[in-house]
Amino acid sequence: MAYGFDTLQIHAGAAPDPATGARQTPIYQTTAYVFRDADHAAALFNLQEVGFIYSRLTNPTVAVLAERIATLEGGQGAVCCSSGHAAQIMALFPLMAPGRNVVASSRLYGGTITQFSQTIKRFGWSAKFVDFDDLEAVKAAIDEDTRAVFCESIANPGGYITDLDAIAAISDEAGLPLIVDNTSATPYLCNPIAHGATLVVHSTTKYLTGNGTVTGGCVVDSGKFDWSASDKFPSLSEPEPAYHGLKFHETFGALAYTFHGIAIGLRDLGMTMNPQAAHYTLMGIETLSLRMQRHVQNAEQVAAWLEGHDAVDYVTYAGLASSPYNGRVAKICPKGAGGLFTVALKGGYEACLKFVDSLEIFSHVANLGDTRSLVIHSASTTHRQLTPEQQEAAGAGPSVVRISIGIEDPTDLIADLAQALDKASA
Ligand SMILES: *Cc1c(COP(=O)(O)O)cnc(C)c1O
Repeated sequence: MAYGFDTLQIHAGAAPDPATGARQTPIYQTTAYVFRDADHAAALFNLQEVGFIYSRLTNPTVAVLAERIATLEGGQGAVCCSSGHAAQIMALFPLMAPGRNVVASSRLYGGTITQFSQTIKRFGWSAKFVDFDDLEAVKAAIDEDTRAVFCESIANPGGYITDLDAIAAISDEAGLPLIVDNTSATPYLCNPIAHGATLVVHSTTKYLTGNGTVTGGCVVDSGKFDWSASDKFPSLSEPEPAYHGLKFHETFGALAYTFHGIAIGLRDLGMTMNPQAAHYTLMGIETLSLRMQRHVQNAEQVAAWLEGHDAVDYVTYAGLASSPYNGRVAKICPKGAGGLFTVALKGGYEACLKFVDSLEIFSHVANLGDTRSLVIHSASTTHRQLTPEQQEAAGAGPSVVRISIGIEDPTDLIADLAQALDKASA
């Protein structure tokens, strides 16, 4: 029987604890697990039997979360990581090698632009940034060394919606996996795999946990990509020397990428989620649909109010009829355009700083997707390392403030914004 989203967000991956009957998933605060005997230990280390060895690789609490997120995304398997940024490196790791590149949208979370434009160069990888609304440009950017295509479903910071089906058609044609960062939309609002994504990455730090307590990330595999169709993905299709020549794709089929993520990725990169973090995220995810409904309702109301204010130049919320992305809501995220958008103030950089300093309910923080309403002036913070051109391309220019709408009373949020806008334009 196929359960609905609201049932799965509470039950998927979990069962009463076999040892104690505990109904809530216990926090298995342990580093290691006793082997039945020496043969059992050898079988586990050879990947001939699946089981718990050491918590850098797998942990029962973390495993429940991985299965929960994989189920909500409609994937075959998932690997949880220590942060969203760790998940991005883990997602690329089996695909890339020195000299290889990823074709990425120019509209991404600021930290991802920095990670992709600077840090991955140390591994010999590179990123080519393109406007993903220009499909010809995306096609043209793909070359012989491209190993993945990367975008966000609802892109940070402006809440721009990507035409995932169109991008998936291009990556399919090129024989490449499409990786979609679904952090801002969550699987409640958008299912990238249903739109052709191969892999989905999350910063679970944001809406999935929802209460600003822990950092975490996740890589979900659709299980649909044929890693052996070309010679481009030898980590998955060719013999693995560290496992006596085992071929991941041949041996594990639709679970190849997930097993590789654990057996090679977590084993050797060690970007593991800890069981406490998994616990907090499991607590949050149980109410995901309820929170997202309220985030969307509040964002629609607040964005419409802001758009009519004299001090406001424009609002980027895709849920507004004025947004060029409004037409994509019904197709990509029919339950709403999320809770994240930017507002541009006529008063420019100075007015933005005054505005964020004057808010009382909204907190000025480098986070999003919390029950609390949050703001950040991207150009002076998260997007500070970017060139002015990159800031504009990412939708994070100097006169722009990013708003993450919480689930508070919307009239209180509007009153707070009203008094801060008054101070900012005084
Ligand atoms: C926050 C965020 C990340 C990075 O996640 P961390 O958990 O902070 O490492 C990546 N992508 C998006 C869209 C984000 O909002």
